[in-house]
Amino acid sequence: MLKGSCLCGAVRFTVTGAPFDPAACHCSQCRKMSGHVWAAAVVAEDGIEIDGEVRWFEASPRARRGFCPVCGSSLFWQEHGSGNMDFALGAVDGPTGLRLGRHIFTEDKGDYYDIAETEMKQEGEG
Ligand SMILES: [Zn+2]
Ligand SMILES: [Zn+2]
Repeated sequence: MLKGSCLCGAVRFTVTGAPFDPAACHCSQCRKMSGHVWAAAVVAEDGIEIDGEVRWFEASPRARRGFCPVCGSSLFWQEHGSGNMDFALGAVDGPTGLRLGRHIFTEDKGDYYDIAETEMKQEGEG
């Protein structure tokens, strides 16, 4: 079971389900919202409990993004109708026991860095 929180502690979450597909997303939305790359894992919607007020931003017709209205921490991403919830790996308190498995939207990455962990699968290339 993982526990996480935002920077100020107003939003806390507990992951009771089994997280899967930990990935680093390089899309422009994740970069803008997080300031760089956003790393998240997926869990079934009923496998995460959220305490505190989350502000939701309709980032696209496809998905919404949840953040703390007090400190602005980017915590959640949810595709409408998916039944899943992505939670920020950086918000987990203590060890996650997870390992990033892939990079996604690498074609949208910024030009100011390279993806060093090349052993990971990079989607959208080749
Ligand atoms: Zn906060
Ligand atoms: Zn993204």
